[in-house]
Amino acid sequence: MRKMLLVVLGVSLLGMVAGCSTQETSEEVVKVEPTSGPAAPEKPLTQYVDTPTGRWLVHDTDRPAPPIITPGAECAAAPSDAIVLFDGTADSMVNWTDTKGNPSKWICGNGYMESVKGAGYIQTKEQFGSCQLHVEFATPSRVRGNGQGRGNSGVFLHGQYEVQVLDSYGNETYPDGQCGALYGRAVPLVNASGKPGQWQSYDIVYHRPTFDADGNVARKATFTVFHNGVLIQDHVELVGGTGWINAHAVTDYKPHGDKGPIQLQDHGNPVWYRNIWVRELKD
Ligand code: MG
Repeated sequence: MRKMLLVVLGVSLLGMVAGCSTQETSEEVVKVEPTSGPAAPEKPLTQYVDTPTGRWLVHDTDRPAPPIITPGAECAAAPSDAIVLFDGTADSMVNWTDTKGNPSKWICGNGYMESVKGAGYIQTKEQFGSCQLHVEFATPSRVRGNGQGRGNSGVFLHGQYEVQVLDSYGNETYPDGQCGALYGRAVPLVNASGKPGQWQSYDIVYHRPTFDADGNVARKATFTVFHNGVLIQDHVELVGGTGWINAHAVTDYKPHGDKGPIQLQDHGNPVWYRNIWVRELKD
């Protein structure tokens, strides 16, 4: 009886090991062509995979390859398939207006644009939904103010949702309003802030929300954000809007179109921006 149990246990363990090894080597759902007749094992297996581009053999040379693009020489430089929104030149300011569609009063300096107190937000003429966005910014090298009053600006996706820009280098404020926060909604995983006056970067992956016929949110927006190359928002689902209502309240979702402008905030502090590019993404 004991011998039988050991045999059964041994067979079970072998089965488990075989199962593990199969799971580890299978990366996609693969369909195995059914074999006919009992003597088929000698024939090599022919495997197919069903994909959005059709049904393909494993290792099929006719299967469409992904598009080839040229990455930038530096990680911050725009790749070949990006839409460059601001390259530091006055010429590229034509891609931007104030929120009423008029020329913005933001200053274009030597390789950067600067927010001007009272000028209001600056926004892209072109509108975007789900996208990958690269932005570089620098908060004032001459430190003034504290908390939300130090180097405050913001990057708004879809003209709605703010990734906070703030001088958070040795400057305490509420964590869901510090640099890299999804304002009022999500605290960054770490504080990856550079020093005042230092150029910093955001790389943002944004997927837009969708709304049903009654205006209720059907699928919430998601954000993945790298700050100076460091992951600070890891595929965060935005619970609601990011608009300030009062000291302890932010806006809820309100229905909007499939696309909206990318905006940079005038919050009264002279924050600089440069090298802004975007790649549109499928929802
Ligand atoms: Mg702000």
